[in-house]
Amino acid sequence: MKFETKVIHAGIEPDPQTGAVMTPIYQTSTYKQDAPNVHKGYEYARTQNPTRDALENNLAALENGYGGICFGSGLAAMDAIIKTLKSGDEVLSTNDLYGGSYRLLRAIYQKMGIQSNFVDMRNPENVRDNINENTKLIWVETPTNPMLQVVDIEEICKIGKEAGVKVVVDNTFATPYLQQPLNLGADMVLHSATKYLGGHSDVIHGAIVCKGKEDYESLKFMQNASGAVPGPLDCFLILRGIKTLHLRVQRACENAEKVAKFLKNHPKVEKVYYPGFSDHPGHEIAKKQMKHFGGMVSFDLGGDHNRDCNKVLEKTHFFILAESLGGVESLIGHPASMTHGSIPKEERLKSGLTDSLIRLSVGVENSDDLIADLSNALDAL
Ligand SMILES: *Cc1c(COP(=O)(O)O)cnc(C)c1O
Repeated sequence: MKFETKVIHAGIEPDPQTGAVMTPIYQTSTYKQDAPNVHKGYEYARTQNPTRDALENNLAALENGYGGICFGSGLAAMDAIIKTLKSGDEVLSTNDLYGGSYRLLRAIYQKMGIQSNFVDMRNPENVRDNINENTKLIWVETPTNPMLQVVDIEEICKIGKEAGVKVVVDNTFATPYLQQPLNLGADMVLHSATKYLGGHSDVIHGAIVCKGKEDYESLKFMQNASGAVPGPLDCFLILRGIKTLHLRVQRACENAEKVAKFLKNHPKVEKVYYPGFSDHPGHEIAKKQMKHFGGMVSFDLGGDHNRDCNKVLEKTHFFILAESLGGVESLIGHPASMTHGSIPKEERLKSGLTDSLIRLSVGVENSDDLIADLSNALDAL
């Protein structure tokens, strides 16, 4: 099956009992047994749920993995992976990391004895140089949030393999439509399905897809043993969202390219971060490992203060001021005070995340309307 067929059919069969074409929402906590331990493969809904099974199988197909495992949020999925480590183990992570991922590593796992080191992975040698005998996991995010840095997944995976360290790629920004890390050598892919996979800003959900059976089994065990599972309605919403993933992401990419070009030519904008520009330092790598350059664009008004930002953020109409990304509607945000508020300023500035940076999640509206909206807001400066 090609990708566009997989999103609709992979892992999904019409309901055997009724023929329902859409996967039913199995809203049950438990299942009838004919005799103790004689059942149809379903005992208790933390452990198994048919709606969740369909989604997990679908995700495994989209990422070309052995198996998918779903969680109540992206961070719950990440938590399950980090929890497979033990005290004394270390994580080597991308430095321009999603704020919540950074907080989980720093505020929760550090005090449990799992140390994380954050390096600039745009230069893969920084990964090689920072691996030590305790490093058990390399955590990659690409393109990064919100600076849209691009990390060469294949290179990092080679280094990981040589050192015997597993590589996880947070594929939330790119989605499997644009980028398939398991095909490039990664061991696991993580999604905040809240974003593009769900695609309609109406559900919080997370998922992992493992390339190998061993990782899959240990995370499947964790899913049941720790219990951060999603409900069946949430799984249904993600399944439904995925059916149009290719259409939505394609349009978002096309709109983002037009918006980025508009911003680049605007006199009030100092810098635009968009991997689709040929002068973006990660452009060639993005071209190699992604189908398009994604729906995210960040831009800096200059001056490292948020006075002007607020004017723009309060003035857009179609770009709604809100956290999150990846929905059909366009969103605008101020990373320094919103999504990345939990990262200390000195840390933020290392990757260029100033107080004057604005992040856009470009949706699937008409691009002329989106550009007019931004143009109007920038006129307020
Ligand atoms: C949102 C996000 C997460 C966290 O996911 P939740 O579903 O909000 O828990 C992790 N990584 C990235 C890149 C994200 O954008």
